[in-house]
Amino acid sequence: VTVRNLASKGSSRRPAGAEPAPAALPGPAIEALERWFLAHARDLPWRRLRSGYAALVSETMLQQTQVQRVVGAYLAFMERFPTVDALAGAPEQEVLAAWQGLGYYRRARHLHAAAKAIVRDHGGRVPEGAEVLRTLPGVGPYTAGAVSSIVHGHREPIVDGNVHRVLSRLAGCTASATSAEGRLWAWDQAGKVAQGADRPGVANEGMMELGATVCTPASPRCGECPVATWCRARALGTPEAFPAPKPRVERRTVHWHALVAVHEGRVLLEQRGDRGLWARLWQPPTVEGDQRAPREELEQAWGIAVRECAAFDHITSHRTVRFLVCAPAGSEMPRGRDGRWVPLAQVGDYPLANAAWRVLQAGETGVTPPPSASGPRRAPRAARSAATDS
Ligand code: SF4
Repeated sequence: VTVRNLASKGSSRRPAGAEPAPAALPGPAIEALERWFLAHARDLPWRRLRSGYAALVSETMLQQTQVQRVVGAYLAFMERFPTVDALAGAPEQEVLAAWQGLGYYRRARHLHAAAKAIVRDHGGRVPEGAEVLRTLPGVGPYTAGAVSSIVHGHREPIVDGNVHRVLSRLAGCTASATSAEGRLWAWDQAGKVAQGADRPGVANEGMMELGATVCTPASPRCGECPVATWCRARALGTPEAFPAPKPRVERRTVHWHALVAVHEGRVLLEQRGDRGLWARLWQPPTVEGDQRAPREELEQAWGIAVRECAAFDHITSHRTVRFLVCAPAGSEMPRGRDGRWVPLAQVGDYPLANAAWRVLQAGETGVTPPPSASGPRRAPRAARSAATDS
């Protein structure tokens, strides 16, 4: 479904007894929003230097990840890959290593593939138009609209979790962001904002910023809101009731058993397969199952006697991974058929999921994860778009 199609099929569901909600932000509200954003925008690194490449990198990172976690990772990533050419020419493992701590590694693979396509098909310049941007790997309506409107001023709408919430409250629309009806309605409204704005990029970023800093999911600060005069939810006295909450995600529980083997300052790591969770990332040897495996079974799998060190749960968007961390019980080490003995000081050069860092720490290796792997992660309900497991 294209953005244009989405924008032409809007509908809304209003709370019982409420007056009809406004069809879109009126012009004065958009102007107030633009003025507020220009005066109150946070100083974020991707706002200092506006370029298609910087916007593509930052918007990709901001999907599923909190701003404060992205800032450090973005600066390090741009230092390592300052241009589209630099990113396109880098080996995948280097790109994944630079993505550590952000999770959802599929985004990194898509960004890498997009850089290659930009070099191959667009002379190394990030396209300006949303339609062309959407032909790049991993670039959906949101990212295409953000790059096109914010960097180039095109009249393209954007809808992420923040924008959906702001629009829902302003119009008094309860349709959830996960329902087709809610998504169609929000893209329709965002399209009207982009059409009615003097500066569509400023209006778009203003909605995002308002949702991130003032019109927050819990306890919105309506007294500081530049568009409170036009807000239906505020008038009803129940802003937090909009939009309707997303249905709870049922997480599957799986049991993974990891062996942390350290020998002469090296730790045994293996690379995951090409598909599924954390594809092609590195980890200590791991036995995966739906149930906790008895120690004898693990010893048979690894070929040595082991002892249990620690246990913890790692939560991803779709599952709870219940880890049991083991270590060799004696001096005998696993052979590590497909593994690699990596010096402890060089583990950071390998792309590891946050869970693998937690396993290494639980196994008392003394390794330190990169700084971006230790901060808070965006809660699933505030995510901009569904990507893949973290
Ligand atoms: S008035 Fe309150 S609920 Fe309405 S948009 Fe502003 S912060 Fe959100």
